Amino acid sequence: TGLNVHFGGTGFIPGLRTPPLRAVNDVSLAVMPGETLGLVGESGSGKSTLGRAILRLGELTSGEIVFDGTDMARATVGDLNRLRRQSAMIFQDPYGALNPRMRVGDAIAEVLRVHRKVPSSRIGSRIAELLNLVGLDAGYANSRPLDLSGGQCQRIGIARALAVEPKLIVADECVAALDVSIQGQILNLLMDLREQIGMAIIFIAHDLAIVRRLCDRVAVMYLGRIVETGPTEEVFTEPRHPYTASLLRAIPDIDPDRGLPENPLAGEPPSPIALPCGCAFHPRCPNALPDCSTGEPPRLGRDGPHRAACILPPGEIRI
Ligand code: SF4
Ligand code: MG
Repeated sequence: TGLNVHFGGTGFIPGLRTPPLRAVNDVSLAVMPGETLGLVGESGSGKSTLGRAILRLGELTSGEIVFDGTDMARATVGDLNRLRRQSAMIFQDPYGALNPRMRVGDAIAEVLRVHRKVPSSRIGSRIAELLNLVGLDAGYANSRPLDLSGGQCQRIGIARALAVEPKLIVADECVAALDVSIQGQILNLLMDLREQIGMAIIFIAHDLAIVRRLCDRVAVMYLGRIVETGPTEEVFTEPRHPYTASLLRAIPDIDPDRGLPENPLAGEPPSPIALPCGCAFHPRCPNALPDCSTGEPPRLGRDGPHRAACILPPGEIRI
C-alpha cells in the first residue's frame, strides 16, 4: 500500500542536491496465496525496483508492505528473517544468480541451512527432492553452473527459491534469457509448482503473451505508477488505460488481420526524474484532453477489481 521507492534527493550524495528519481510512486498491490500477478510495462517503468522492494531486497523510501499480516516496511529483524524464510526471487540471468564456483548442491544446501535450519543429516535428501521437483536428476547436485544449459540453470534457480518453502516468489523476467522451447518448459514447471505448493507469484515480464497465459491478474506500470490493474482477460480484451491499449496494440499476433500497428507508442517514456505534470502519460497519449496535462495525476481508484488511472470513462479509449 502506498509504496514509494525514490532514489537520490537531498542527502543522498552529501553536499549535492539531486532531484529524487521516483522509481516507484505510491503503488499499492495485493497478491493472494496461490495467485499469479503479472507486472508489465516498458523497461524502466519500475517493475524490478518494485519487485525488489516488495521482498525488501531493495531500497524503500516509504509505504507499507503487508506480508502475512506484518508490515514489512517497518519490520523488525525477526520479521525480516521470517520474510526471508518465506519469500524468494528468481532472476533473469540464470548464471548470474548462482556462484559459478559453487557446486549446485552446495548452493541449495546453503539456503536450507541458513533459512530452514535443516539438519546436516537431512540436507542431502532434501536437495535430491528439490532437484526432482524441478525435473532434474539428483546427480546434478555435483555439477557447477558453467556445466549447465540456461534452462537447467534456471531450474536450479527455481529449486533454490523453493528451498525456502516460499509463500511468495517474485520472478523477474525469469524466462527472457531462454530459448522459446525452454521458456515453455520453465513456465509449465512454475505453474505446476504453483498448483502443488500454492505459493503466490509476482511475475515480472515484458512479454505480454506469456503474461496472458500465466497470470490471474495483471498490473501495468508506467513511470513508477500502476496505471491499470485487473483480471488478466479483462485487461487484455477491454483495456481501460490508453497506455495498456498501446502496449497491447504493439503485440503483432494479438489480431493477425490488423497487422503491425504503424506507431503503437510514439516516443520514449519521459525521465522519471522530471515527471510531466498531470497524467505522466499525457505527452504520448493519443486520447489526451487539455485537463490531462495539469494538476494531480489521475489515481487508480479503489472500486472493483478492474481499475485504471485515467480520466476517460471505460470504453472511451481510442488507440
Ligand atoms: Fe491519456 Fe488523459 Fe487518460 Fe492520461 S488521463 S491516459 S493523458 S486520457
Ligand atoms: Mg527489469
